[in-house]
Parts: sequence; C-alpha cells; structure tokens
Amino acid sequence: MKNKIYIDNIAISNPDKILFPKDNITKLDVINYYLNISNLMLPLIDKRLVSVIRCHENINKEKFFKKHPTTEGENVSRFLLNDEYYFYLKNQKELIYQVQMGSIEFHTWGSKVSNIERPNLMVFDLDPDEKMSVNKLREGVSDLKYVLDSLNLKSYLKTSGGKGYHIIVPFSKKMDWEEFGDFSKNIALLLETKWSNLFTTNIRKDERKGKIFVDYLRNKKGATCVAPYSLRARDFAPISFPISWKDLEKVTPNEINISNYENYIKEVSPWNDLLPQKNK
Ligand code: ATP
Ligand code: MN
Repeated sequence: MKNKIYIDNIAISNPDKILFPKDNITKLDVINYYLNISNLMLPLIDKRLVSVIRCHENINKEKFFKKHPTTEGENVSRFLLNDEYYFYLKNQKELIYQVQMGSIEFHTWGSKVSNIERPNLMVFDLDPDEKMSVNKLREGVSDLKYVLDSLNLKSYLKTSGGKGYHIIVPFSKKMDWEEFGDFSKNIALLLETKWSNLFTTNIRKDERKGKIFVDYLRNKKGATCVAPYSLRARDFAPISFPISWKDLEKVTPNEINISNYENYIKEVSPWNDLLPQKNK
C-alpha cells in the first residue's frame, strides 16, 4: 500500500508525480517550495482574488486556467461577485490544497475583496520583442521607473519568470477601475511617445519588432497578473520573483527558479514596505 502523506492536514495524492518532465520536479517539490515561501508570498496576495493554472498530468500536457472554485470543498475562501464565486487564499493550508489539486501558477487581481471596486495595485508588464537583448529591456524598465519616480509613485520590481519584468505600483488613492485603467494607459502612452523607438502599446506581435510592448491591460477589473513568488508552469520551474531595483542589472527575467531561489532571498524582502499597504 502506498503511504499517504499529509501536509497541513491535507492528504497529498501522488507526491512523486513528475510535474516538470525536463528536470524531474515532482508535486512534492512544488509543495515544499510553496511551504518554504508561503510566509513571504501570502501577505502579498492577502485578500486578492486568484486564478490558478493547473496541470493534471504535467506542464507539457493540458493546462487549465481556473477562475472559479468548483472542486475545492471547504479548503478555499469563496467570494461572490455578480452571481459567480471567485476565490482567494487565506492561509498556507488553502495554498497547499491548491497544489494538491494540481495548481502550479497563482495569478491575482489588482483589488482586494474588502474593496473590490477600488484597485490598489497597478501592474506594467514589459514584454520585449523576442530578439531584444536583456540590457535593452532593462533600459526600458529604468525609463518606466524614471517616469514613475517623476510622478512620485513608488514602484516595485519582479521577474516574470518568462521573458520580461513586471513593475508594480501601489495606490492608496481610491480610484475606480475605469480611472485606474485610464491612468495606466496614459503612462503607457507617455512611454510610447517619449521613447518611440523603444516602446509600443500595440499588442500585435508584428508591431513589436525591436520594441517593448507595454502591457497595461492587466489593470482592468477581472484581469490578473502572476503573483509574486508564484512558480511558472514552464521548463525549470522559474519563479516570478520580487527583486530590488539595484538587482535589475544583475538578475534576468527567468533566472530564478525552484532550484536556486534560496540564493536570492534577502534578509529584508525588497517588497517589505509594500506590506503596510495591507489594510488600505
Ligand atoms: P512573460 O514574461 O513570458 O510575458 P507573463 O507572466 O508576463 O510572462 P503570461 O504568462 O503570458 O505573461 O501572462 C498572461 C496574462 O494573462 C497574465 O496576466 C495572466 O494572469 C493572464 N492569463 C494567463 N492565462 C490566461 C487565460 N487562460 N485566460 C485569461 N487570462 C490568462
Ligand atoms: Mn509579460
């Protein structure tokens, strides 16, 4: 008989299942990762609705983007919005339960359930043209930081775990979704106007040649961005990892992964002062 293992009172089925075939990363490895990181991750996604990417077999097979709780039973915090249930993660147990159910990636909203119509975390996803060098991309990230600094807006940086960087801007001003979306669009347009050789706001890939697409469209109600510290369901299990602004020059977008992340954890998290935002 197979031994069942229990973590946080959750029965873990198939802990040895290989979720990342290229590098033999198992479901238990994924669970251990989230157990290790939950104290950093959970405060940052506190009361934000999540969508998850689930793999029932492995990352090379079908992936499911799941927005609504269906099979979770009692191990999930539900939130009713326009007659549909969404969910958020209240504690480590709910996080681990998601992994038990096959979730690998966690994506979160820009508002909290306590004030769902007032977004307070803006995201700019800088997506480089495939052939762009990382140094040119970094130039673009620094330009955006310069614009945000000029507006007196504090910003935070994370790797995407893929090709780009994500720049996060907290707001305590109470904007509605429309105002919030328009604000992010205006910043994207400003970048495109000021540095027209480097940025585009056109989503079409063929318009992106040699440029960075400034994806501001995630600042809409219901849109999500991969959460800080979420694994990505891609080869080598990269992580969307918060880094300090000075590490922009050192860390590439997909360099931090499940095998090396411990080397990148700082005594004081680079996003530490984002936390007092919590109750705003
Ligand atoms: P990269 O650096 O590779 O661009 P990324 O995280 O910026 O990484 P994607 O993973 O392509 O880019 O993110 C796509 C966006 O769409 C994210 O905001 C994510 O929350 C959202 N998303 C992903 N899959 C779906 C889906 N099936 N349906 C709706 N939204 C999705
Ligand atoms: Mn991106």
